[in-house]
Amino acid sequence: MPTDFFSNFFQPILQQYGRDLLLLLILVLALGTVFYPLYRRRQRRIQLAQQSFPTAWRKILQQRWPLYRALPADVQQQVRKQIQRFIAEVEFIGCDGLTVTDQMRVLIAAQASLLTARLPVNDYPGLRQVLVYPDAFAVDLNQPDGVGVVHEKTEWREGESWQQGQVILSWRHTLAGAAVADDGRNLVIHEFAHQLDQQTGSVNGFPPLPTAELQQQWSRQMQTAFDQLQRDLQQSSPTWIDPYAATNPAEFFAVLSELFFEMPAYLADCQPQLYRLMQQFFQLDPKSWPLQQPQLPSLIQKRFR
Ligand SMILES: [Zn+2]
Repeated sequence: MPTDFFSNFFQPILQQYGRDLLLLLILVLALGTVFYPLYRRRQRRIQLAQQSFPTAWRKILQQRWPLYRALPADVQQQVRKQIQRFIAEVEFIGCDGLTVTDQMRVLIAAQASLLTARLPVNDYPGLRQVLVYPDAFAVDLNQPDGVGVVHEKTEWREGESWQQGQVILSWRHTLAGAAVADDGRNLVIHEFAHQLDQQTGSVNGFPPLPTAELQQQWSRQMQTAFDQLQRDLQQSSPTWIDPYAATNPAEFFAVLSELFFEMPAYLADCQPQLYRLMQQFFQLDPKSWPLQQPQLPSLIQKRFR
């Protein structure tokens, strides 16, 4: 009976539409592969939004990140929401024997989330892993000289941001960056500013800007400030920003982000145009936050990022 049924019913259909059915099956499978993970993520995010923010995490923010206490209530709320998503979706990996704790996860996720609190996409879609070292870590580099001979060199780094979806951080420097909210130095803000910059596909100090007008202003005013910084350094004149910002436009944007969030009054005072650009991009106005802000930065410090 089943054999008769197959030959009478399915076989003619298969003969007539076999190729189309196969193509349809492949299409359904392909769409499922793309959309099912998105559907799962959406469902997970709905569940997360219903969960309350853990009291222990709130205590970590209050005790370890003074800037959190200065944030407006609505920004705090948004940051807390994003922390839950960040920790659920990004893998944290301890390196050199480090065991990753909740304090590490929360402090890193929180500071990264502040940058995206008001952005149209308020997370880091390409980010998959955060690697945490106990302290600065060694990076082996092969550098060719003028005649093409490659020399091996070791450099020490506090952090790195990779376009393949990884951020690498020294925990000692992460903790120190969070502990002082008004010195214009913050490792997590620096590396995640690089992640935003990298979202456009190139690393050039040009994060995804919402309007053509802002893109034009950004391009012109950032370039002018970057060129002026280069000239100041060549003439050994004092600079308003850590000279590390002169390395390239990507570092300029990352160091500027540290100043924007941690010394906003100073930045608004000495570079009002750049402050306005950053304010328009991040959709935040840190100079209005009640944080003790020094007028003079101590900027000449060696960096390894
Ligand atoms: Zn950097």
